[in-house]
Amino acid sequence: MRNEVISQQLLKWYDQMKRQLPWRENKEPYRIWLSEIMLQQTQVVTVIDYFNRFISVFPDVYTLADADEEQVFKCWEGLGYYSRARNLHLCAKKVVEEYGGVFPSCYEALLKLPGIGPYTAGAIASIAFDEKVPAVDGNVLRVISRLFCIDAAINQPQNHGLFVEQTTALLPDRVGDFNQALMELGATVCTPKRWKCEVCPIGQACCANQSQRVDDFPVKLKKTPQRVQKVAICIVRSKLNPSKLLVIKHDSGGLLGNLWGFPRYEMPFESEVLEVEALYGWFENQFGVRPKLLESEKGMPHVFTHIKWQTELLYLELEDEIQIDYPKMEWVNMTELNALALPKAYIKQIEFIKKTMTKKDEENAHTRTHQSP
Ligand code: SF4
Repeated sequence: MRNEVISQQLLKWYDQMKRQLPWRENKEPYRIWLSEIMLQQTQVVTVIDYFNRFISVFPDVYTLADADEEQVFKCWEGLGYYSRARNLHLCAKKVVEEYGGVFPSCYEALLKLPGIGPYTAGAIASIAFDEKVPAVDGNVLRVISRLFCIDAAINQPQNHGLFVEQTTALLPDRVGDFNQALMELGATVCTPKRWKCEVCPIGQACCANQSQRVDDFPVKLKKTPQRVQKVAICIVRSKLNPSKLLVIKHDSGGLLGNLWGFPRYEMPFESEVLEVEALYGWFENQFGVRPKLLESEKGMPHVFTHIKWQTELLYLELEDEIQIDYPKMEWVNMTELNALALPKAYIKQIEFIKKTMTKKDEENAHTRTHQSP
């Protein structure tokens, strides 16, 4: 089947089957950009609510550029990969300051904006401005690899050009719709495990389907395993005001940079048990005071892209709610804690702590009931 025929079949299918998504209501570059950044590493169903909320708080690039970083992080909370939120904010500022609030309309100029790589630039340029460029994401890599039986690994950067070339050769005039159709096919029909070749609009042209080798594609090189990091998360209260917890803003560099969270002590991997003296020494070094460990329990694990956290929750007490010598810190109650932009790794721990507390309260109430005359 010729490339033109493949493209037309796919467009015909897309016109009938495309999902109604809020960012598809019009071709505003701001909405397309926002949705594309949110969709990186996150499922469509999750993004819908975030997108609607974000648009209601920041309806255009000016309101986003004007916002505090804190406010942006708060709206982003739970989507993970906070560098995306940081770049989103930087990008909005740049569009306002350097382009008068109007997104540049060509691929090359879009690529120069913070947080916009070849895929996102391709998506915005083609969908919002009809520029004939491909938008090759993970879904497209899989479809193209199967369609042409390409045995080059999709996760090797040096092979990327080959997939871009093959996709470019398919581009029709309705380029924005076509790019979305390819992604949609990968997300709903040509899925990683349960592909549905029997209903695929390009099944007749597909090399992997015709040769019954769908299982062989895409080829991927094995990833290096995630590093396991043992992390002690410090839940610090003061003796005088136990309803408040200590939160800090992490340094801008490194994991969770610029985000609020609890102090965290990264334990040496070989430590089977927590060395309390080492913890006290670390805490004193960081915050200039010596805490007292009241109790500890296993926390919730969390997986980042390259690191897996094994967590231990440490309940620590300080004599007083002192202002510790640290760049940015606060004492907050549970309501104030909920208002902060916290990364998911910490939200999980808070939910876990709340559950444990409720369970303990119930057990205490039960004991009291059975002890009463
Ligand atoms: S025919 Fe099957 S393998 Fe080929 S593109 Fe369609 S769903 Fe994917």
